[in-house]
Amino acid sequence: IAVQSLENESELAVKKDQQYLWHNITPYSESHPPMIAATANGSWVTDIDGNKFLDGMSGLWCVNVGYGRKELADAAYQQLLTLPYFPLTQSHRPAIALAEKLNEWLGDDYVIFFSNSGSEANEAAFKMARQYQQQIGQHYRHKFIARYRGYHGSSLGALSATGQAQRKYKYEPLTGGFLHVAPPDSYRRPDGLTVETFNLQCAQAIEDTIVWEGAETVAAVIMEPVITGGGVIVPHQVYMDRVQEICRKHGVLLIIDEVICGFGRSGRNFGHHNFGIKPDIVTMAKGLTSAYLPLSATAVRKDIYEVFKDNSDDYGYFRHVNTFGGNPAACALALRNLEILEQEHLVERAEILGQRLAGAFSGLRDHKLVGDVRSFGLVIGIELVADKATKQPADLAVVKGIIAECKSKGLIIGKNGDTVAGFNNVLTFAPPLSSTDEDVQFIIDTFKAVLNGSWAE
Ligand code: PMP
Repeated sequence: IAVQSLENESELAVKKDQQYLWHNITPYSESHPPMIAATANGSWVTDIDGNKFLDGMSGLWCVNVGYGRKELADAAYQQLLTLPYFPLTQSHRPAIALAEKLNEWLGDDYVIFFSNSGSEANEAAFKMARQYQQQIGQHYRHKFIARYRGYHGSSLGALSATGQAQRKYKYEPLTGGFLHVAPPDSYRRPDGLTVETFNLQCAQAIEDTIVWEGAETVAAVIMEPVITGGGVIVPHQVYMDRVQEICRKHGVLLIIDEVICGFGRSGRNFGHHNFGIKPDIVTMAKGLTSAYLPLSATAVRKDIYEVFKDNSDDYGYFRHVNTFGGNPAACALALRNLEILEQEHLVERAEILGQRLAGAFSGLRDHKLVGDVRSFGLVIGIELVADKATKQPADLAVVKGIIAECKSKGLIIGKNGDTVAGFNNVLTFAPPLSSTDEDVQFIIDTFKAVLNGSWAE
């Protein structure tokens, strides 16, 4: 007690954090001392010293309805009192209601499998894809094709699908059967190619890989509608159309990872709705509960699910269990979260706010560090370069310096890309969909002041 009284609460918390807590993917030097969040409301987080920050990344792109929603706490609380748990080897009301609601949001006929995280939703998708192919007699189909720079999770299978090399170092060997192709990074397309032609070439790389591997060995393609964490890489419409066509032509399932793009982040219910494609499997997490509780889902086309009803060899059903997946309180909270998104028209608002931010930032294209400004709904990426002509990525020290200065002015933004490929140079903005007009103006004013201040020369 004597020692504690000499220190204030935050110093003590930092000490204990250093002693007991292992942080997520952040170099020790950058996460020590950590920002220790204490409370949050709307788009703003307050640390334990009382400093306020606008959370321009919605945590990890997930707090879609913003912080401080009492209705969500109430929904979970009431459900915990009624039925806190029952396994989904059988069923319960909140899971049934949420599965029905997700079908409505997807706008198509899907059956829903619940897990707790984006990684787990993708793991379930991989197992479903392999088993489905087996059960329709396609016994060699076990491979998956994903894109470089894409991210699909941290567990060994989802990490194998991930196309960012630096995340894999020291964890190999990973899971076999995952192949990668280049993403449609139109900003860095070869000279002389139109965006459309370049995108068609990128899609063709998927078909070439399928053909070279032997189509009869490929189970599925997995991709985000837009690569988000890998640097906001937005495909042209022709790319998505062609990918869908290629998958269908070769009997390959198309898994769309909506972990970030889902639940209004893209300005539509789901990211793939922007492209009018119909995935075979859709994975989702983050915005499903706005991250108030863990919950994820793997939505599977009805006719794929039908194949799992065949119990003729006793192994026909999906032999996959997730103890916590579809927890009743998480499902009840998710339902309320979706109601808030609907009642407050937050999907439409994401589109409006995204356009406002992208519009304001496109004026920065003349800045010597700004190579490209990209957006998809309420996801904005600003690619920083050291040289506009060669597009050489900006030094990491510059990227980190800008982020640190924004933070010192009360604005949290993100840094994304792939360190190994030298592209860790994309600043990202993904504030809550519920952000007020003043919040968005604060993001614009603060970021512009930083870039046009000490980083102008
Ligand atoms: N897919 C995508 C596109 C993601 O962005 C993430 C998380 N950032 C995941 C999957 C994995 O989600 P989780 O961290 O919940 O396992």
